[in-house]
Amino acid sequence: MTTMTRPRPYQSYVYGYPHKTAYRPLADQPLLSDLWAREPTDALSLYAHIPFCEYRCGFCNLFTRIGAPDDLTLRYLDALERQAIAVRAALGDRPVRFAAAAFGGGTPTYLTAGELTRLCDIAEHRMGVDLRAVPLSVETSPTTATADRLAVLAERGTTRISIGVQSFVDSEAKAAVRPQRRGEVEAALQRIRSARIPVLNIDLIYGIEGQTEDTWRSSLRAALAWQPEELYLYPLYVRPLTGLGKLAGAADEEWDEQRLRLYRAGRDLLLGHGYEQASMRMFRRLDAPSAGSGDYACQTDGMIGLGSGARSYTAGLHYSFDYAVAPREVRGIIDCYTGTTDFGRAEVGRRIDEDEARRRHLLQSLLQAEGMDVGDYRARFGAHPSAHFATELDEFAALGWLDPDAEPALLRLTPEGLAYSDALGPRLFSPAVRAAMAAYEVK
Ligand code: SF4
Repeated sequence: MTTMTRPRPYQSYVYGYPHKTAYRPLADQPLLSDLWAREPTDALSLYAHIPFCEYRCGFCNLFTRIGAPDDLTLRYLDALERQAIAVRAALGDRPVRFAAAAFGGGTPTYLTAGELTRLCDIAEHRMGVDLRAVPLSVETSPTTATADRLAVLAERGTTRISIGVQSFVDSEAKAAVRPQRRGEVEAALQRIRSARIPVLNIDLIYGIEGQTEDTWRSSLRAALAWQPEELYLYPLYVRPLTGLGKLAGAADEEWDEQRLRLYRAGRDLLLGHGYEQASMRMFRRLDAPSAGSGDYACQTDGMIGLGSGARSYTAGLHYSFDYAVAPREVRGIIDCYTGTTDFGRAEVGRRIDEDEARRRHLLQSLLQAEGMDVGDYRARFGAHPSAHFATELDEFAALGWLDPDAEPALLRLTPEGLAYSDALGPRLFSPAVRAAMAAYEVK
């Protein structure tokens, strides 16, 4: 039997494949009306991106900026409305139905209550999303989760609110370059529960400097006191151009060990408190109402993104605007977005051929704890996944990542495979995507 070297566990969080760093300017700048002409439009999802935050957390490489001077939020929403009108027109006269919606960021609740009302109006009246009839997920932060904003969101049909807490220990929040006080966090959680939005998700981070199993468990217990329907446990990453990236060197083995230890401690604690594991990061309370997107299947259905950092997905092309992390670049891209009058074309993106579609399907299904339905894969791509990914699947099996006891119709990870999701995922990237990501100049 071959002895496999165990890979480093924290290589890349695969939250969307291909990653935006593999996108490139599209020479032909295709018309959206052509791109969407043959796409099914009966179960789309809408994602609106609000790229403003009160401060920049040290670990964050999302597309966002600190603050919004002058009337920037107004100009941003004006542009978002122009974009919505253009995209809806590009979909043509066919019946269009949205099955899910989400407002993400940045921090969508950086917008005032009045501005959130306008954002909901754009989604409803310009795009045609029936917000009260579909799952609507919104991200928030402790200081912006104010009663008036939450009231708007609840009234407009928000079914899930997700708050980034990261740690209930003030010194750990500070070490992650996220200035917040426990008291503010608890008060925000109280306001969220009072707003009676059905699903509360709390994000926590492990691997922070100075964090121990004891402090990690105390953060988890503080979160559990609110009985959140969902919890996301994120390993801390140090990424280029983020606050922490400027301070720290490369990840070392000791840090890997700390994160693996805390991951296992967190997972075991939640499994012992009535939660099930949905993926490496996501845990769901067993008796929670579903906040799922009903008939929307992220592996196959189209997504329409609005905003300067949002991606859109058709079967053959993923597209967006330019991407950056450094403050000056982000500000430039947002200014360009707010000045745009013609939103009728895709500017930056990546074509998705059959091979990339298979990789994306496998990544999005295999990294779920419930595993991948082999029949779904076969129905879509005409063969068992081992016909396309023999080398990778053999390697995963040799590493003990594939559950040999799963039914033949299922490809499922072992607990160890789930723990190593961030090492497994990147192994499924195509050589072309890998090369594009490596060649991407961080800005
Ligand atoms: S982690 Fe969230 S709140 Fe912090 S800077 Fe990034 S988007 Fe903003």
